[in-house]
Amino acid sequence: MRGKYVTETGKANDAGMARAAATLRDGGLVAVPTETVYGLAARADSEEAVARIYAAKGRPGFNPLIVHLASPQAAERHADFNRTAQRLAQAWWPGPLTMVLPRKPGAGLAPAVSAGLPTVALRVPAHRVMRGLLALCDFPLAAPSANRSGFISPTRAEHVLASLDGRIDLVLDAGPCQAGLESTIVAVRADGSWQELRPGPIGLADLAAAAGEGDRGEAGGGIEAPGQLASHYAPGKPVRLGCETAAADEYMIGFGAVAGDISLSETGDLGEAAARLYACLHAAARSGKPRIAVAPVPARGIGLAINDRLRRAAA
Ligand code: AMP
Ligand code: MG
Repeated sequence: MRGKYVTETGKANDAGMARAAATLRDGGLVAVPTETVYGLAARADSEEAVARIYAAKGRPGFNPLIVHLASPQAAERHADFNRTAQRLAQAWWPGPLTMVLPRKPGAGLAPAVSAGLPTVALRVPAHRVMRGLLALCDFPLAAPSANRSGFISPTRAEHVLASLDGRIDLVLDAGPCQAGLESTIVAVRADGSWQELRPGPIGLADLAAAAGEGDRGEAGGGIEAPGQLASHYAPGKPVRLGCETAAADEYMIGFGAVAGDISLSETGDLGEAAARLYACLHAAARSGKPRIAVAPVPARGIGLAINDRLRRAAA
């Protein structure tokens, strides 16, 4: 195992991507922008490389990783796709959709990737840099969010460094992430029914439209989301939600008409709020104030996913 790391930051140009691919081939750790958040990538076919992800993040071994692939065809080598899974892949890949599917044994993924479960989480990402990297690698990439376990997710290279400097090999910097919230996770069962495990950029109505009517599984129908812990995305200070005003010792994160020290979106745009959520939480964490207050965010559309993350940040 490697001991100490010197974390370098590189531009996501051809030279940077070639270097990143070589580092990954050697079993190293590279933070890569995706359309959701920055991911911490390692080759998914190497038990040692995957173990380095868990070690760098301090991630509990029961919390499985998402495997990123260049194409739906590459994904089909690693899991069983029934009609529901095929329809969802057709509609949303490449994009911010992760599917938890029955794992094909013997397809070459390190067992630690799915924490010993018989299922595996797969995604075909859309971001130029992550796609470019996957094209240079002849192996899939395991990539959870590039932050210490339990803390705020990174949407900029500087957020990655704030959390993982000295613990990983390289950060590819390509500016802020567009969606700003982690992928929507859907479990698809062998019988074709499905269940949303984590709300994200793709809403339930859009999933249902793609999956086909009548295929929706019952909530709590037996599929586990081992990583969906009550406390997550934590800024390290108490967080109060649904606030119209802040106390003197609170750093206020505003939204719409509710002003703050910083705002998720002054115009009340939920897409902008999703993209800015983690940057606002990082700013609040860095501020001199010991507490954080957050304005109400409407629970519709991507606002559902924003409120999911805020509840866990406050738990
Ligand atoms: P992160 O990559 O940090 O956004 O976290 C990945 C998420 O995917 C966690 O919430 C995991 O629990 C979830 N996940 C990954 N693999 C599986 C699986 N096989 N079954 C259920 N959830 C999974
Ligand atoms: Mg994460």
